Amino acid sequence: MFDEVKGFGVTLRRLFMPTVTIEYPEEKRPMADRYRGLPSLRSDPETGEALCVACGLCARICPTSCLEMHVVPSQEGDRELGEFILRSGRCLFCGFCAQVCPVDAITMSKEYELSVTERDGLIYTKTELATIGAQSPVWWETATDPDHDARRPRDGAYDRFREQAIGTEYPKKR
Ligand code: SF4
Ligand code: SF4
Repeated sequence: MFDEVKGFGVTLRRLFMPTVTIEYPEEKRPMADRYRGLPSLRSDPETGEALCVACGLCARICPTSCLEMHVVPSQEGDRELGEFILRSGRCLFCGFCAQVCPVDAITMSKEYELSVTERDGLIYTKTELATIGAQSPVWWETATDPDHDARRPRDGAYDRFREQAIGTEYPKKR
């Protein structure tokens, strides 16, 4: 009996204490400046062109081999990025790919709501990664730039261009 009274006492005491829980997903906690979410691709803000020069360094350093890129000949006779695939189910969010990129074309976004109901949803294409990257500040600059707004929770979810991905033939899973 004494234990029950003690339990009610705890409940009553907690009733008048400040709330520590939040109404997720409507309300979100501020993120750490260098939080590492899904890797994403950045574009030139003026031309809109992907910054990636298809050097392959990120795929080479990735410890889980979850990055894959298809290089195609460019109109200038050089080479350019055709497709860029991220198999997020295997990603460790370690950030090695972002650190090694010589042109800052890949950065760690703040995306963490990545649950899907189909396995194909774990595969992100160049278009999808660029959409996420357009909303992401450069990851390692966020802690030093006083003007960045990485701490602000996003308004709504990004459009993952699912309809574009439907019917796309992805390379065979390894
Ligand atoms: S964050 Fe790490 S595991 Fe994920 S793609 Fe980059 S290098 Fe690979
Ligand atoms: S390291 Fe950077 S430039 Fe090289 S393929 Fe990866 S994203 Fe593209």
